[in-house]
Amino acid sequence: MTGRYIGRFAPSPTGPLHAGSLVAALASWLDARAHGGRWLVRIEDVDQPRCMPGMDRIILQQLVDCGLVPDEAPIYQSQHNLRYQQALDELITHKMVYPCACSRKDIEAALNQTGREKPRHGELVYPGTCRPERGDLHGKPARAWRLSVNQGLVQWTDRRLGMQVQDVALDVGDFVLKRADGLFAYQLAVVVDDGAHHVTHIVRGADLVDNTARQILLQRALGLPQPQYLHTPLVMDAQGEKLSKQTGAKAVNTREPLPVLNEAARVLDLHIQASTLNDWLTEAVNQWPYRLGA
Ligand code: GLU
Repeated sequence: MTGRYIGRFAPSPTGPLHAGSLVAALASWLDARAHGGRWLVRIEDVDQPRCMPGMDRIILQQLVDCGLVPDEAPIYQSQHNLRYQQALDELITHKMVYPCACSRKDIEAALNQTGREKPRHGELVYPGTCRPERGDLHGKPARAWRLSVNQGLVQWTDRRLGMQVQDVALDVGDFVLKRADGLFAYQLAVVVDDGAHHVTHIVRGADLVDNTARQILLQRALGLPQPQYLHTPLVMDAQGEKLSKQTGAKAVNTREPLPVLNEAARVLDLHIQASTLNDWLTEAVNQWPYRLGA
């Protein structure tokens, strides 16, 4: 491959790596190695109340146990609030965001009135109540900052899933960049950090596909280049639910890395025969099927 490749794995330290998050970690490492790229690890601890103290170290140790060693010191989102505020300020200057005073109840009531109540993954489509063109904040204090989504139709191509289309205006509405509790939203932090670290290729779990159109809109708003995306298959539990920390997925035991790596590899349709970790990883890089054009 010509040109530069910078990939990353971006775990939230809300629990240890489980079989599902290990797939994303392995896939992003393999894709970076298969393309002679650099691989970064970013600890997504922007939502401090959800983070567990010390979990970053546990995750980093699990990665190292599996031979997945980042090329640079891990990045911590909690140290970059200034960067997120600067991005928000830039959007404020360009009038691309606006302060919002709505509580969830206000949003529900407004949607009820228009008969448009349609929760999507538990999220409500924002009806635009606080949009500047609709007047002031009705005397209420601002709670959050939202991006004005005007041209919301986004088309992008996933390297595994093919063409994706989402109308963010219709499906999501103006979305939050800074939350009512003063914390920066995941969408803003991810886009700003991927931009700041010049990430060119994002490989992550398919549970995040639905965020990509929003992130692309934000990249455009901030004048950042659009990375290429590859969303990996999810690991399901016996009930057919996505394996997640919320549903109590258990930590992978990386003290014996080969069995857990073999399990992750199967999800990625790799079948590796090797008895040492080094050989295993070399073979996995050789077998990696998602090769970018030369
Ligand atoms: N921190 C997110 C998660 O653990 C991943 C973000 C991303 O890869 O863009 O689900």
